[in-house]
Amino acid sequence: MTTYLNSLDYARYLDETDELRHFRAEFLVPERDGQPLTYLCGNSLGLQPRRARQALERELMSWQQRGVEGWFEGDAPWLSYHRSCQEPLARLVGARPAEVCPMNNLTVNLHLMLTTFYRPTGTRTKILTLAGDFPSDQYALETHVRSRGLDPAEVLVEVPLRAGEFHWREADLLQVLDQQADTLALVVMSGLHYYNGQVLPMQALAQKARALGIPVGFDLAHAVGNVPLHLHHWDVDFAVWCSYKYLNAGPGGVAGLFVHEKHHKAQAPRLAGWWGYDEARRFEMTQGFVPMPGAAGWQLSTPAILPLAVHRAALGLFEEAGGMERLREKSLRLTGYLEFLLQDINQRYGAPITLMTPPRAEERGCQLSWLVRAEGKVLFDYLGQRGIVGDWREPNCIRLAPAPLYNTFEEVWRVGEALDTFYAASRPRYPF
Ligand SMILES: *Cc1c(COP(=O)(O)O)cnc(C)c1O
Repeated sequence: MTTYLNSLDYARYLDETDELRHFRAEFLVPERDGQPLTYLCGNSLGLQPRRARQALERELMSWQQRGVEGWFEGDAPWLSYHRSCQEPLARLVGARPAEVCPMNNLTVNLHLMLTTFYRPTGTRTKILTLAGDFPSDQYALETHVRSRGLDPAEVLVEVPLRAGEFHWREADLLQVLDQQADTLALVVMSGLHYYNGQVLPMQALAQKARALGIPVGFDLAHAVGNVPLHLHHWDVDFAVWCSYKYLNAGPGGVAGLFVHEKHHKAQAPRLAGWWGYDEARRFEMTQGFVPMPGAAGWQLSTPAILPLAVHRAALGLFEEAGGMERLREKSLRLTGYLEFLLQDINQRYGAPITLMTPPRAEERGCQLSWLVRAEGKVLFDYLGQRGIVGDWREPNCIRLAPAPLYNTFEEVWRVGEALDTFYAASRPRYPF
C-alpha cells in the first residue's frame, strides 16, 4: 500500500519523478481561457496525439499524389495498412498478431462475433451476460437473438448485482456459469465495466467456460489500453473493442477484433465481405468465399485508411511508453492517489462520497466511479467550472479516469483541491 500526501508540492514531486511524464507533451490538451483543462475523460474520448495530424496528412498526400496507386505504393501501402496495427494491438491485448485485426466499429464487430460464436444447439441456447451492461451491447444481444428467431427474454441470462452492492462477485459469476452450464451457448460481457469501473474476472470466467465447453467473449472497450490483458493465454475465444477511448484514435476510430488462433482453421460461420477474402486471390473476384487466415478473415469492407492512420500513430505511443505493463505501474499510482484524496475528503467532511469501483487495484483500471451524497450535480458542475472534465451519470455518479499516458499527479491533486473548496463552502465542517 502506497502512502500519499495531500499537497501540491508532493503531487509535483510525483510528476517530476515520473518516468513517463514526457508523454503528456505528445498530446493536445483542450484549453479554456488559455489554460489547459484537467481532462479526466479519456474513458469516453482519449485526447488527440499531436502526431495524428501528421499521420493524416501523410495519407492525404499519398491520395493527392498517387490516387488509386496509394493502395500499392508508398511507405505504407493502404492494401496492407491494417497489418502495421496488428503487432502493437497484439501486444496490448496479449495475443499473437494474426489473432487481432483493426476493422469496422465495435458494435459491428460484436454482431460479427455473435454470428460466429453464438451457435444455439439442443438445450444450449442461452447467453450469459451482465445485467446493465453497456447499452449498445444490450441492444446488439437483444436484436441478434431476435434475428435468429429466438426470444431474448428466454435466451439472455443477466447476472445482477447483489442488492446494495456496486460490483460483481467472482464467486457469483462462476456459480451462475456452473448452474446454467447445460443451457448456455455463449458467455459474453464487458471485460471492464463502463459504469462501475470493475475489471471482470476474465481469466477465471474463460477457464470455467472452457471446462464446460462454452465459448466466451469480452467487450474490451474500457479495458484495452487501460489494463494488461492476456487473451491468448487466458484462452478467450473472441474479443472486441473500440479505439477512441484509451487508445486515443479519435472520435469513431477503427475498432478491433480478437479471434483465438484455435478458431482460425475451422470454417467458422461468418458474415463475410471481400476484404476478408484470401489476400492472394482477392482481386480474382471469383465465386465462393475463401477467408484470410486469422482475425483478418472477418474484415468486411475496404478499410477506412484515414482513421486507421490516426490509430496507427496513436498505437506508436504505447510502444514508445514501453507497453501496458509500464503504463499500468503508473496508472495504479495515479488512480491510487485519486482514491487517497477522495478518502481524505470523506474523513474531513462526513463521508459524502461512496466509491463504486472495487477498492482492490487488481479489480479496476484507471477509472474511479463514485456516488455523491446529495448535491451531486451541483458538485459536478462546480468541478466543470474549475476546468475539471469528467463524466456525469444520473442520478448521482461521477466518473473520473486519469490516463497514465497524459494525466499528471498535479491534475489529480486539483480534483482533491476542488472537492475540498466545495465541501468547505457548502457544509459545516463537522456533520453533527
Ligand atoms: C464505448 C462502448 C461501446 C461503443 O460502441 P461503438 O460501436 O463504438 O459505438 C460499446 N460497448 C462498450 C462496453 C463501450 O464501453
